[in-house]
Amino acid sequence: MSAQHTPGPLSVHNYSGIQGRKLLNLSDGRTVEVAAITIGAGRTMIGEVRYSSEASGFPTVNDHGEMLANAALFIAAPDLVKAADIALGLILGGRLYEQQCCDGHMCGCQGSTYADEAEHFLRAALAKARDVASVQAALDALQEKAA
Ligand SMILES: [Zn+2]
Repeated sequence: MSAQHTPGPLSVHNYSGIQGRKLLNLSDGRTVEVAAITIGAGRTMIGEVRYSSEASGFPTVNDHGEMLANAALFIAAPDLVKAADIALGLILGGRLYEQQCCDGHMCGCQGSTYADEAEHFLRAALAKARDVASVQAALDALQEKAA
C-alpha cells in the first residue's frame, strides 16, 4: 500500500479555531496563552501546529517562535520531498554534472548542470522551510481580515 499525501501547495489555512494567540483563564486562577496554526491545501485542512505558554499539562511546544518555525517546516514539506526526489534521481542516474543543454555559448543556459538545477530546488525548499516571517505575515493577514 502506498497512500499519497494531499497535493500541495500547503499554506496557513483560514480556519478560525484558536488561530492567533489567546489567553485561557484556568480554574486554578492561572492564565495560559495558547495558539494554533492550521495548515491547509487549498480549502482542505490537513494539520495543525500548536503552542501553549505552559507546556506542562498541554501536549504542545511552549515557545511561540518554535510553533511558527514548525508551521514553516510543515508548509515546506511537499517542496522538500520534491527537491529531494529530483536530487536523488540525478545522483542515482549519475547525471548530476552533465550540462542540461549546451556549454552556454548557444543560448542563455550559461552551461548549467543538473546539479545546478537540483541545488536551486533544494535551496528554495530549505528557504521555505525556514521562512517564519511569511507564516507570521499570513497570520497577520488573517487577523486583519477577521477584525
Ligand atoms: Zn544552452
